[in-house]
Amino acid sequence: MTTTPEIYDLALTGGTLLDPAQGIHDRRDIAFKDGLVALVAQHIDPTSASMSVDVSGKLITPGLIDLHGHFYHGGNGSAVHADEKCLSAGTTTGVDAGSAGFLNYGAMRDYVFPAHRTRLLAFLHIGAVGLAANRVLGGGLHDMRVIDVDQTADAIKDNPGFCFGVKVRMHYNAVARWNAPEAMKQARAAADQSGSRLMVHVSGTPIPLPQVLEYLGPGDIVTHAFNGDHESILDRNGKVRPEVRAAAERGVIMDLAHAGVHCDFEVAKAALQQELPPDTISTDLHVPPPGRTVYLMNDLISQFHAMGLPLKDAVAASTSRPAEVLGLQDSLGSLAPGMSGDAAVYDLREGRFVWHDSAANKVEGKVRLDTFLTVRAGEVAWKEGRLTQMGQC
Ligand SMILES: [Zn+2]
Repeated sequence: MTTTPEIYDLALTGGTLLDPAQGIHDRRDIAFKDGLVALVAQHIDPTSASMSVDVSGKLITPGLIDLHGHFYHGGNGSAVHADEKCLSAGTTTGVDAGSAGFLNYGAMRDYVFPAHRTRLLAFLHIGAVGLAANRVLGGGLHDMRVIDVDQTADAIKDNPGFCFGVKVRMHYNAVARWNAPEAMKQARAAADQSGSRLMVHVSGTPIPLPQVLEYLGPGDIVTHAFNGDHESILDRNGKVRPEVRAAAERGVIMDLAHAGVHCDFEVAKAALQQELPPDTISTDLHVPPPGRTVYLMNDLISQFHAMGLPLKDAVAASTSRPAEVLGLQDSLGSLAPGMSGDAAVYDLREGRFVWHDSAANKVEGKVRLDTFLTVRAGEVAWKEGRLTQMGQC
């Protein structure tokens, strides 16, 4: 009897691969080796891998990328434990959206992020200590002395692969109306000076949204783009505002960051109908106050699919698109051979599912992505409701 030598670390067999970057939505087996995707083929012999998982009837996607969450766990009161909230949703890369600033990112980089299996990246807040004092001071930019453009830009430049941009919060609790334009100007300067990108929180902006958009160019990010606050992306007649359309056309990224409080389904539906879907689907994961539901990535994909966004587009907005926004499309967001070995496997549950927003709207759907397995760097990191140790399956 001959036995096939084990040449792969892990094989997923029998599943359907949905990989928008490769244009594949078809039956495929996938093998991983040394942390990377090694082979995508119609058939891979399970005995050629030291571990193989039969995922027949299930959907395989590239590991999801959450472009907006709060992962400085222990660094401030509202940050979540990334492995619990990301890997359980099929998310393998989380981007911290400004939990820390130039004065306090060190512990996040050196102690918090390395303690997780989820790949964690950061945008630095334009305020020196990020959201550290959020719960008591309401957001950080009331005293403009917390902004230091040079030190923020230097911190980003000094940390390639960890820092990817600048975050600024245009929210009436975070910055006074009379300081908002100056905060935008300084955040813009820090992004330019560091050669990075700017992410702007626009929900509840104290200045008009078109004025905020003037500071944004290709690759910059409008986060909470589908909020239902007074300065939303829609005009009084429910039409996408011309300044918003112009921003999208010049390459400004419209990011969801649902948060349980920063997405209004009526705004999202109107935007979908007017062909302004989210470029990127993200959570704004944080520890919510009582009564607020912060959905994980698998539920957000399911919600937007229920609202009419094709599943392929919802998965692209959670994989290849955020990879492009970060400039990491050569290693993340697809399961082509040679890419990072990050994958998600879902059961497509059928039934009646209801999701809510903060405006008491609800969306009903018939399909929900239910995470079966998450692969991170070629190893099973989460399976059927629990984190796994290496070698468990
Ligand atoms: Zn946030």
